[in-house]
Amino acid sequence: MSAWEKDGSVEEKVIEKKKVDVKVALKFDEEKTPWDLMPFEAIEGMLDVLAYGKNKYTRCSECGLSLPGQSENEPCPDCNGKIVSGADNWRKGFSWRRLYAAACRHLAAFMKGEEVDESGNSHLSHALCMIAFLSEHYTQGYGEDDRFIYKQYKK
Ligand SMILES: [Zn+2]
Repeated sequence: MSAWEKDGSVEEKVIEKKKVDVKVALKFDEEKTPWDLMPFEAIEGMLDVLAYGKNKYTRCSECGLSLPGQSENEPCPDCNGKIVSGADNWRKGFSWRRLYAAACRHLAAFMKGEEVDESGNSHLSHALCMIAFLSEHYTQGYGEDDRFIYKQYKK
């Protein structure tokens, strides 16, 4: 977190005094995000699904023509409009139930014994991707929160 407050004043930082091992390099990172704990293969599988989606949902920003795999450096063949990659298509938002249902379908397919879908990507990678999307929808306010909320959880 930045030491700067929103109004431009400097936040007073309190440095805790403690005895340390003088023979090793110091790095006070105990409260930082532990990126070394990353399950790399699972995340790489999810990134493969995202790359597949980036290509699949590439389109013309003017006429909306779907142009899977089209380079963003070339104009739309129909209207000469600008091409936008499908990388952030999902950020326009979905129904939260729809994302949940997609994650469940991929998990069910895996549990029935089908390991990859028609794209050649793992059902587990797709499920991870749907849950990552749902998490971002929740934290960023994307899409429609159309969950059925039980009365004991209503705010
Ligand atoms: Zn176009």
